[in-house]
Amino acid sequence: MLDTMKRLLALAVLTGVGAISMTVAAYQPPAAPPAGPRVIDLEKLKDNLYVLTSSSPADRTTFSGGNVAVFITDGGVTLVDTKLAGWGQAILDKLKTITDKPVTRIINTHTHGDHTGNDNFFGTSVEIVAQDNTKANMEKMDAFKGDNAKFLPKKTYTDKLTLGSGKDRIDLYYFGAGHTNGDTFVVFPALRVLHTGDMFAWKDGPYCDLTNGGSCVALPRTLQKVIAGIKDVDTIIPGHSPMQTPTDLQMFQRFTADLLSHSVDAMKAGKSVDDAAAAFKVDKYPGYKNERVKAAIQSIYDELKKKP
Ligand SMILES: [Zn+2]
Repeated sequence: MLDTMKRLLALAVLTGVGAISMTVAAYQPPAAPPAGPRVIDLEKLKDNLYVLTSSSPADRTTFSGGNVAVFITDGGVTLVDTKLAGWGQAILDKLKTITDKPVTRIINTHTHGDHTGNDNFFGTSVEIVAQDNTKANMEKMDAFKGDNAKFLPKKTYTDKLTLGSGKDRIDLYYFGAGHTNGDTFVVFPALRVLHTGDMFAWKDGPYCDLTNGGSCVALPRTLQKVIAGIKDVDTIIPGHSPMQTPTDLQMFQRFTADLLSHSVDAMKAGKSVDDAAAAFKVDKYPGYKNERVKAAIQSIYDELKKKP
């Protein structure tokens, strides 16, 4: 049991997942850097688009942070997210195997340290871009205080922002709360690829970071807007798992909607979170795990209880 708790806490610390009834900060850096070699895998999606993939958050000795998109444009390299602090050199070493161009732009999908950890690694001339609320959330992080405030996003937006043009165009969208209150969806229109960040992190219960404005109550509605608003995409880069398709995103939206209505009904019926979790079946969702469902239901209960 203690081992399980320790493992949960380690997970919580690494991924920013607040385990049930534990008060942990949204993200705390690991106490010690990983002991082993820092291995990041590289996956080629298109001629000029790669993904520095995400190792499993369950193993803290090898976990590098979320999936990073590497978009090579005429003007330089755009990164979507920057993994955990301490992994900057490993990212750079991988980049050197595919391009001589410098990193000129970083887009942060959201505030968490496993997505913003190396924003300060690539120099002050890099343009850092994020949604307004994410910038505000980043301002609260120790990693962006003092001298490091110069690595806060300089370019922000509210609902939609287009960067570049033609084959280098990138569209950023904000559709509402979910994982946090500032999650950006990044679209590479010429390549028909979408990076969802942690709004679609894995095939399991969603993590909604209430301390950063996240909402598992809003999540299904927000994802519905994404599905309606972003067309012409074939490939999805999720936050922390292998590449997905729009059909997978649609299934995840239904999963989150199911989980919400199940939780609302269970709460109305006076059921405990344990009972509500035990009664929720993931079987009808192929490939889904049931490791984070209970935490998601707890999070929905917490949110509903706060409402007047
Ligand atoms: Zn996150």
